[in-house]
Amino acid sequence: MKFPERGKAWQDLAGLMDEAAEADIDWRHGRTPLYVFYASEDVHEIGQRAYNKFFTENALGAKRAFASLKKMEEEVVGMALDLFHGPQEAAGHMTSGGSESIFLAVKAARDRYRDRHGAAGGPLNMVVPYSAHPAFNKAGETMDLEVRRIPLADDLRADVDAMAEAVDERTMLLVGSAPCFPHGVIDPVERLAVVARDRDVWLHVDACVGGYLAPFVRMLDYPIRAFDFEVPGVRSLSADLHKFGFCPKPASTLFFRTQEDFERSVFAFEDWPNGRFSTATLVGTRPGGGVAASWAVLNYLGTEGYKRIAAELMRMTQAYVTGIEAIDGLRMWTRPDLTIINFGSDEVDVFSVADRMAKRGWLPGLTQAPRGMHAMLSMLHDPVRDTYLEDLASAVAEVRETGETSAAVKAAY
Ligand SMILES: *Cc1c(COP(=O)(O)O)cnc(C)c1O
Repeated sequence: MKFPERGKAWQDLAGLMDEAAEADIDWRHGRTPLYVFYASEDVHEIGQRAYNKFFTENALGAKRAFASLKKMEEEVVGMALDLFHGPQEAAGHMTSGGSESIFLAVKAARDRYRDRHGAAGGPLNMVVPYSAHPAFNKAGETMDLEVRRIPLADDLRADVDAMAEAVDERTMLLVGSAPCFPHGVIDPVERLAVVARDRDVWLHVDACVGGYLAPFVRMLDYPIRAFDFEVPGVRSLSADLHKFGFCPKPASTLFFRTQEDFERSVFAFEDWPNGRFSTATLVGTRPGGGVAASWAVLNYLGTEGYKRIAAELMRMTQAYVTGIEAIDGLRMWTRPDLTIINFGSDEVDVFSVADRMAKRGWLPGLTQAPRGMHAMLSMLHDPVRDTYLEDLASAVAEVRETGETSAAVKAAY
């Protein structure tokens, strides 16, 4: 590769990009079970327009230069805290993604532990369900914290008793997911909160994937268990706008029950030539577009809009579940609380089925424990449901006939 000598015109660039995209998975037609989220064309467009309006502004300068972004971020946080039953004192901020939100929650929890027990002694640890997102290990590796991943209960939710047993005097954090990514089920947050209160350990709820969907599904009277600040003992909560909030990337949110805990996630520094530097995020520069677009999408949809989408998503998910269960040899590993499905088979090798789905143009989503197929459904998956189920049925039939058990695919995020 050579650095280009001369520039190219937009038309040429656009052509080259379109050409490159020909090798991409056809996400617009629901061919990927993860990475992209979609509600409807109008929501997509509102996000894009608002993003472009604040394309150049930098949310790092929101406090000093861009009152607009400051106001919009405060309003996003305010609206979300209302949704998540935040008490009067609760505080939060926007980040660039779920991993960053988790990282900052872990850091705040560690600092609280140090404030109360001192920094001396061996390594600290966090106790998380086996299904918790790898971002907890990313944070653990970076901050020298041990991560204890505890096997799940039979219903694929956090095993609260086993987690309680794993807690010791060096435990600074307990985690529950709402829902976990692998199996799509919400952990028993209320029971985890009892352990957290008894043992005086910080409880973080990772609602990255479900945070902006679960409250609306609950309003529709689906049986969604309490998972947010409504539960005493939940100290922090992460929720991604760029997932089922249907906002453009990058946009996540992180909330704390108290102002004191919020302060623990803030970085402040003075000892350099330019004076005080303070951020509530890991990153410095942040796209103004991400803040503006989230503000716009939340206000465009409102409770009414999100409830409408939630109803469609839940109806679609049920139709997928019914369709999968109608295929001889397949079964759900668990009932989805929201729109993440995970299914497998006692009769055929499900990875071999996924292999054959890949040959038909579907990017396989897989879980290795239990061995299964996995999909996070958004509205892109609605129009292709029949095609998917037909392909799935014929893939299962083929694998049953050949009896194959060695697939080329491997579970990977
Ligand atoms: C997506 C996800 C994350 C991480 O979010 P990123 O935005 O990809 O960094 C964390 N937890 C859960 C449950 C997730 O689904």
